[in-house]
Amino acid sequence: QKFVYDFTEGNKDLKDLLGGKGANLAEMTNLGLPVPPGFTITTEACKVYLASGHEPAALRDEVSAHLEALEAGMGKKLGQADDPLLVSVRSGAKFSMPGMMDTVLNIGLSDASVTGLAAQAGDERFAWDSYRRLIQMFGKTVLGVDGELFEEALDEAKRAKGVTTDIDLDAADLRRLVAEFKDIVSKETGRDFPQEPREQMDLAIRAVFESWNTERAKLYRRQERIPGDLGTAVNICSMVFGNLGPDSGTGVAFTRDPASGHQGVYGDYLQNAQGEDVVAGIRNTVPLADLERIDKASYDQLIQIMETLETHYKDLCDIEFTIERGKLWMLQTRVGKRTAGAAFRIATQLVDQGLIDEAEALQRVTGAQLAQLMFPRFDEKAKADLLGRGIAASPGAAVGKAVFDSYTAVKWSRSGEKVILIRRETNPDDLNGMIAAEGILTSRGGKTSHAAVVARGMGKTCVCGAEELEVDTKRRRMTAPGGVVIEEGDVVSIDGSTGKVYLGEVPVVPSPVVEYFEGRMHAGADDADELVQAVHRMMAYADRMRRLRVRANADNAEDAARARRFGAQGIGLCRTEHMFLGERREMVERLILADTDGEREEALGALLPLQKTDFVELFEAMDGLPVTVRLLDPPLHEFLPDITELSVRVALAEAREDANENDLRLLQAVHKLHEQNPMLGLRGVRLGLVIPGLFAMQVRAIAEAAAERRNAKGDPRAEIMIPLVGTVQELEIVREEADRVIAEVEAATGTELRLTIGTMIELPRAALTADQIAEAAEFFSFGTNDLTQTVWGFSRDDVEASFFTAYLEKGIFGVSPFETIDKDGVGSLVRSAVKAGRATRPDLKLGVCGEHGGDPESVHFFHEVGLDYVSCSPFRIPVARLEAGRAAA
Ligand code: PEP
Ligand code: MG
Repeated sequence: QKFVYDFTEGNKDLKDLLGGKGANLAEMTNLGLPVPPGFTITTEACKVYLASGHEPAALRDEVSAHLEALEAGMGKKLGQADDPLLVSVRSGAKFSMPGMMDTVLNIGLSDASVTGLAAQAGDERFAWDSYRRLIQMFGKTVLGVDGELFEEALDEAKRAKGVTTDIDLDAADLRRLVAEFKDIVSKETGRDFPQEPREQMDLAIRAVFESWNTERAKLYRRQERIPGDLGTAVNICSMVFGNLGPDSGTGVAFTRDPASGHQGVYGDYLQNAQGEDVVAGIRNTVPLADLERIDKASYDQLIQIMETLETHYKDLCDIEFTIERGKLWMLQTRVGKRTAGAAFRIATQLVDQGLIDEAEALQRVTGAQLAQLMFPRFDEKAKADLLGRGIAASPGAAVGKAVFDSYTAVKWSRSGEKVILIRRETNPDDLNGMIAAEGILTSRGGKTSHAAVVARGMGKTCVCGAEELEVDTKRRRMTAPGGVVIEEGDVVSIDGSTGKVYLGEVPVVPSPVVEYFEGRMHAGADDADELVQAVHRMMAYADRMRRLRVRANADNAEDAARARRFGAQGIGLCRTEHMFLGERREMVERLILADTDGEREEALGALLPLQKTDFVELFEAMDGLPVTVRLLDPPLHEFLPDITELSVRVALAEAREDANENDLRLLQAVHKLHEQNPMLGLRGVRLGLVIPGLFAMQVRAIAEAAAERRNAKGDPRAEIMIPLVGTVQELEIVREEADRVIAEVEAATGTELRLTIGTMIELPRAALTADQIAEAAEFFSFGTNDLTQTVWGFSRDDVEASFFTAYLEKGIFGVSPFETIDKDGVGSLVRSAVKAGRATRPDLKLGVCGEHGGDPESVHFFHEVGLDYVSCSPFRIPVARLEAGRAAA
């Protein structure tokens, strides 16, 4: 097994092995771009280390061989006293992970080589500054020394000299600082800063391996659903210097605007600085376009390289580069993160440029991004108190109470408060707070600062670099230009699409994408903005591509109409019990509690006309499209008075000696019907079998409504669905009665109704006996809510509040199985039931109507197992359409 790859040996498809950074460095090297030479230690080596606590035996020799080759190529040795080769050691996992140790620069510097570097560079200040950076980074990330200690010493040095920036410290100051930094290391770690270059390198490599499992990294992975066993690669790269004077510098660039997708020159440049200075947002950068004035040759070359990269990767790339005394070096590239809106725009732009086809375009966006675009925005017409303005770093409209540290953000959000995390700048330690907050506001840093990059990754609203807002985290306050002071707990609103920050709560309005789906804005119209245009086109690609049909879960005409506007191809689940909420609840109560046939018939008689009217409206709204009506499935406790409340009321009345006969009867009945596990109780088909006439009444209402629509020249396509079936016998009994009622209505109205009858598959037994059940069902609809509940034995009403947080934290699952289908368990039952059902009845229609029907990952699964449709809530229909298209592309 080979553990080390030279940059000339890898390529961009080896991300599993070389990590994203290593694979792309190799790719750029092979493209002939100016990449400083180096090599990558594989993720496999990291895995061995993490499993055994030791580097693989062969690693040391392999590293030596590659280092020697590097030294030979560069004509100098690592840490050589008179002319040292210096290297950077950088982590680089398959997925970019801000929660991990990033970089140690200047490895190879020591008391011995610092003077050699000074002589070679002809710059003593530079050499001592490089050395102090090494001790600082190495001390913090490799040796675990509190970074604040170095920062304080640096601040103190500046204070003592009466200056404000690092640049103002001269060689002698920095040399003193190096001595101080070394003291800090000795005091904090009980050992001296290592002087041996190879030891520095080996310790840094090991620290990168170990950084895979820091709490921060683990938290980030759980958030982003990155598997915990991938490991990280380590990149060893020869150093080039952006801090060698005014003809040097460092920067970041995007091949197009990550917020709008527009082509142009986007990025930041910092003269006479090293990379970390830009990313940390510590000093103020200039726009990349200014580089043309500063160093035209490098600028032209960079623009050329950006074009090469974009054509090669066929996507937006982001880039880190350094200029050392007029020579341009590429330090990193990757397919760049982007906002949700830009993802849609860029995908269609690339299609127009002929770089990708429609199928590929669909892979460049996600349902989650579309969902994000459907969030509301701030109302532009509302009166709002502008506090200040920063950089629009991650879109959305967020309102919350100001908090100035992560701890408070987490604490307040746990107690149900919405918070905006306000910091001067964020670093990986702020991750918890960023997750807890509605939005993030910083006063420092650009579009590539930590806050911006991480927030975009999480889909969180973020405004960064709002320099005019003075953030004082110690005193927990922020001061706006007019002197307005925001204290902890004051409400602020931040707009991640414009960068504006407002005092108080600003009202929000629907997104243009929703307006478009609602039909209130037309993509063809002149005023349609680019985003709507792009969404419109991508939806068309998806609709052309997808095999799955998409239906809606809707119980009333209004939802049905919206669903239809959003592209629903029918209703997959009409929950009839939802038609009896509110004032109609008592009618159901009366039915359930009826003792005599007379009482029951009276209750049913009252329900029939209401049901029929509901169905007529629904069939009309969905004319020409299938409507699956599920017969009543109320967990009893939702339809009966609360037993405790009723008991208290009766007890009080008895004490006053005016107990009423009705309440006493009701209490008795409620006692009789009370269940310890109502979700496993008298529900669904069981209720229909126990209460004579109930299902017959519903079937009659459906049939009569369908007949009425037919007579009105409509095209009703009703499907009758029986819930919570566990055995085919239940279904047969209900079917027999339903067939009889339908025949009666057909005869009475003289119409042929063509109603179909099917069942939900939402109990393990139903799935396991799907071959038998298909004998009596014309369609199956998987009720994955109940199926998940019963397969796992998790109460769907309780778990989220009780132990799921602990399960998620322990990584037992990365996401709730009620949200994304559990493929291995619940999913395997779905898969086998599909097969068994179709074996019995080849034309069996198959769908899903649990919440999973609108979940992106689950939609891909349902596509793969061969369902005919998914059904989800109206607002998730566009997401389901898009994901169904992506699954098929
Ligand atoms: C289901 O169980 O997945 C389902 C759709 O039915 P309900 O959520 O109404 O129980
Ligand atoms: Mg159910």
